[in-house]
Amino acid sequence: MNNDELNKAIETVANEILTKKGTSGIYDLAEMLELDCAKCKQCEVATPMINGECLICGTPFTVPNRWENNRIFAQFMEAEMNKGGEFDMFGCMDMGDTFADIDCEDENAQHFFLPEEMRFDTDWNWFMPVVAKLSTQSEEPEELDELRAYLLSGYFTGAFDEALELINNK
Ligand SMILES: [Zn+2]
Repeated sequence: MNNDELNKAIETVANEILTKKGTSGIYDLAEMLELDCAKCKQCEVATPMINGECLICGTPFTVPNRWENNRIFAQFMEAEMNKGGEFDMFGCMDMGDTFADIDCEDENAQHFFLPEEMRFDTDWNWFMPVVAKLSTQSEEPEELDELRAYLLSGYFTGAFDEALELINNK
């Protein structure tokens, strides 16, 4: 069975589940299969997707690269994904006061984020905890030389791309 056939089979099962159990059944299935979620324009909430389409209403998604990149960073930070496709950043990004959006001490602060809401790719405050984690995980200090050079020159895009490559090579 190739990927297309597998996706077709999942869609068929999903349609059956949708009829019998409604959308909550779809979220259970998505969690089991670890499907990506994104906000669907039609459903107006985050829904699981397959074959580039919303599994609930079939509306096509275009997933910008940056969402995918943010998801990779969130997973690297060991954030858990919930059924709505949001990642729980609580306790994953502890950088003290520098991290403005996610107060790791305050349970009431926002700490659930969809990949499209995350700012690993645009905001130093989000990005630096990733650098910190990469540094502690690195066994060979020289593998961080390039990243360090980008950081020193303040070149965000360079640093981001390098960090992404380091994570993808792990
Ligand atoms: Zn939808």
